[in-house]
Amino acid sequence: MRIDKLLANVGYGSRKEVKKLLKTGGIKLNGEVVKDAKMHVNPEEDAVIVNGEEVIYKEFVYFMMNKPPGVVSATEDSRDETVVDILAMEDAARSPFPVGRLDKDTEGLLILTNDGHLSHQLLSPKKHVPKTYFAVIDQEVTEEDVKAFADGVTLDDGYHTKPGILKILKSGITSDIELTITEGKFHQVKRMFESVGKRVMYLKRISMGPLPLDEELELGDYRELTDEEVEMLK
Ligand code: URA
Repeated sequence: MRIDKLLANVGYGSRKEVKKLLKTGGIKLNGEVVKDAKMHVNPEEDAVIVNGEEVIYKEFVYFMMNKPPGVVSATEDSRDETVVDILAMEDAARSPFPVGRLDKDTEGLLILTNDGHLSHQLLSPKKHVPKTYFAVIDQEVTEEDVKAFADGVTLDDGYHTKPGILKILKSGITSDIELTITEGKFHQVKRMFESVGKRVMYLKRISMGPLPLDEELELGDYRELTDEEVEMLK
């Protein structure tokens, strides 16, 4: 990899800014000052020092975001702001993409990574990774709904879902529920409730596989996953 790409990737600014930084003579490659932006480095083996500080290069990045409503789960969009648009520049520079989609109005746990393999693992229908949502429903949710979801429900396109675990947290004029599903059909939670004549008024994903949303994260905030969290997901 070129040294300017490596340094831009780990957050030392744009390629142009990195080029200027190289010219200052503050960058050393295996002990030698390097000024050539095209110089090739092996991030696994070479020691790159910027102004006395060693550069730690990780091949992949993993972020957990508390997705706010109003942004779309995509890397770019001609109309709407995307989850990648709200990342800091140095993080967006690592080219992460969202693992799966949440609707524009859905909040909560979204993983962003540039690790295609892990993303595939989490999304593959064969892996049945459970996803848990908290939702507010526009009317009373009943034990009949719990049973219907446990048997799987038929969506508007005729698809019969796999069993979902529905927990009623509060039932009344509106209801608070938690639903765990192992699939990711388009608008699945909303359509499962539609199939029993009910409407989702608010939706938030609270976990994916073994990973719960970090409740310390405000809407729109994100943080890197710890090494332990990444291992848990693998
Ligand atoms: N199900 C939905 O209906 N919407 C989401 O954003 C996620 C799951």
